[in-house]
Formats: sequence, structure tokens, C-alpha cells
Amino acid sequence: MTEPDLLSRHRAVLPEWLTLYYSEPIEIVGASGRHVTDSRGRRYLDFFAGILTNALGYDVAEVRDALRAQLDTGVLHTSTLYLIRNQVELAERIAKLSGIPDAKVFFTNSGTEANETALMLATQYRRSNQVLALRNSYHGRAFATVGVTGNRGWSASSLSPVKVSYVHGGYRYRGPFSGYSDADYIAACVEDLRDVLTTTTSGDVAALIAEPIQGVGGFNVPPDGLFGEFKQVLDEEGILFVSDEVQTGWGRTGQHFWGIEAHGVTPDIMTFAKGVGNGLAIGGVIARREIMDCLRANSISTFGGNPLATAAAAATLDYLLDHDLQSNAAELGERLLRGLRDIGDAHPVVGDVRGKGLMIGLELVVPGGSRPSERAAGIVLEETRSRGLLVGKGGLHGNVVRLAPPMTLTAEEAEQALRILGEAVAVADREVG
Ligand code: PLP
Repeated sequence: MTEPDLLSRHRAVLPEWLTLYYSEPIEIVGASGRHVTDSRGRRYLDFFAGILTNALGYDVAEVRDALRAQLDTGVLHTSTLYLIRNQVELAERIAKLSGIPDAKVFFTNSGTEANETALMLATQYRRSNQVLALRNSYHGRAFATVGVTGNRGWSASSLSPVKVSYVHGGYRYRGPFSGYSDADYIAACVEDLRDVLTTTTSGDVAALIAEPIQGVGGFNVPPDGLFGEFKQVLDEEGILFVSDEVQTGWGRTGQHFWGIEAHGVTPDIMTFAKGVGNGLAIGGVIARREIMDCLRANSISTFGGNPLATAAAAATLDYLLDHDLQSNAAELGERLLRGLRDIGDAHPVVGDVRGKGLMIGLELVVPGGSRPSERAAGIVLEETRSRGLLVGKGGLHGNVVRLAPPMTLTAEEAEQALRILGEAVAVADREVG
């Protein structure tokens, strides 16, 4: 058997804290459409799109052709010291798509680097190292981004130089304002924001960074309009608003192209990564010209915006827009939400079903109350896998099953996933109940 062998080699040489799914971790060796195949020949419908990395799914001819054309030039990458046509063209498109006036784009290799850059720009621009973030947030794995990550399971270090204050508004299902109406929730969060600003900061805060829908934190959807109300408070003090669109960009929420558009607000800075490379490593920051250009020192990303990653991203964007995958995400997301609510109604192990488009969370609890059940989420993961479906896990308590299939999902695949999820949740309900 290859898996245990590879697993023990993995454990021996890679960090212990590197998360692996499943009691018997799998090795993916083939992929096509929305399906992946493991080294034992088992085929799965991938309902987590890698980790929202494969917006289109796998082995997409248009992306493959774009990569091949770039490979045929012989230039995989030299450095970003020279002009890169793909990079300039992609930046032009993304700046326009962002809706940020007079926008500029800086390419990175990951969401972490994008957020690090956003925080560096905001703190430099405002000459302050004070930052606001949402409770239960996740923004990455480096020094500043770990510092603004408010989820204990992922907040690996508290030694970051960024001075952070956390506000409510990210995780509505649990917390002091759970059960509030949308309007009351927004009002309570705005009051909390004002209170945090006056009681925990000296006022000269650089930025608020927020995910429009928390990803790692459990696909938590705030009421539409919340961040618009926040922005009014921030504008009173000149505080910048950074929208972390690493998971919510490119139409995945169905409702809009960027998650933040649901809030009727244009951010000062946006960050992106994950899906746009359809598997290739690319991220970036979009900011108004005066913010982007506030740095006086030289700066470079050796690989950020390299010709191969930007070729993949351009082909992915073309495909997303030409096939209107945002509408597909809206339609199939609605269908999945309806089906999952029916499953939730029949099984008390499901405490909450929430989401937008193809970003849907199932929060699992100990039946009879709302106590989080990580065990139930673990059971659903194993039971779906054994039935040929890969899903994600997350949330503050590790008890949220996360669904984020490729945006090319078909109606038949959605029905198949609902059937499997129904069976898996029933097992969890029996075992945990
Ligand atoms: N921001 C958000 C909202 C994320 O979900 C993630 C990763 O999951 C990141 C930033 C970090 O991105 P990366 O893992 O590409 O560094």
C-alpha cells in the first residue's frame, strides 16, 4: 500500500502542524472535470475544489492550452525585473474588474503574501501599526497575517508586531448578538466597532481587514450591508477598509463578482488568491493609486505575476466570464442550500445551514442543543469520503462542514452530493445523538 508509506514519510519530514484530512490521508494522482482520483484508484467528486483553488475544476482545455502556449515560448519565468506582457494585461483587467477607482495591482504567490502586502501598504500609508480585524478571522500564515487572525485554531503566534483590536460581525451563529434580526445585528456590530475604536485604540488606526464571508472560520455570512455601515464609521477617522476576497472573489458567492459588493461599499484595498489561478499559485493586492504608490523603497516579488501563473489566471478569468459561472454558482448554490436545509430539518445534529452561492457551511452540534460537535463533522468527512465525495472542514470549533465545489458544477453533481451528504449526516446524527 502506498498511502501508509507516503504518510509515514510525510510525518517524518514535514511539520506536525500541517493539516491532513481523513484518518487515512489520500494522495490525489489524477483529476478531470469536478472529479479527482486517488492512488488506490478511487474516484471522488471534489466538493471543496482543492481548497477553493480550482474554480473551474480540473484539466480544463482552455487553461491547459494557455499554459502550453507559455511553456512553448521556453520562458517559464526569468524574474519580475523585466516586462511581462501577461502580467500587465492581467493587472489591467483585474484593476478594471475591482471597481476601485484609479486602481493598481501587485501580484503575489499566495493569499498570505497578498494580505501581508495590504497590511504593509495600509500601515505605511496611515503611519500606524494599529489594525482592526473581525473575531474568528483567518488571513494567512505569515507574521502580520497571523497577527490579525482571530481564530485560535489557526492563530499560530501572538508575537506579531501589528497591534490588533477585534470587532464583532464575522461569526453570527455564536456570540453575544446571535438570534438578532439583520438590522439589530448590524446596529449592534456598528456600536461595538465604535466602542472598540474608542476604548482599545488611540484613534489613528490604519485599517480594518475583513473577509466578506469568513472562510476558514466556517463560511459565516454577515447580513448584507454590514460592511457599508462599518465603512461610514471608518471614513470618519480616515481608516482604510481592506476586503480579503481570497475565498469570496471571482463570482463564487453567486450574488456578485466580489463578496464585498453585497455591502454596497468600495474597499480601499482588496486582496485575492486561490481560485483565479485554477491551481497555479497566484495572489494579489488591488489598491487605489496613492495607497499602492505610498512606498518609497524598492520592492519586488521574485515570482509574483510570473508568466505561467498569469497565463493560467487570464485563461481562468476568460472562462469564468464567458460561461457566466457566477450565475451557475447562484443557481446551484440555491439548490444546495434548499436541499441542505431539508437535511438539517430532519437531523438535529445540524445546528445551522448557511451560505451564499457555492460557499455553504453546515455547522454540526450535539443534538438537543447548540454545543459544537467536532466529532460529528469528522464523521461526515469520513462518511462522505467513503461514498465518493470530498468536502471541507473548518469553523472555530472544527465542527463546520464546508462545501465549495468548482463553479462549473452541474445540477446532477449537486443532486449526487446532496444524496451523499444526507446519508453521511444521518450517520453522524445516529452516532453523536
Ligand atoms: N485569506 C483568506 C480569507 C483565506 O481563506 C486564506 C487561505 O485559506 C488566506 C488569506 C491565505 O491564503 P494562502 O493560503 O494562499 O496563503
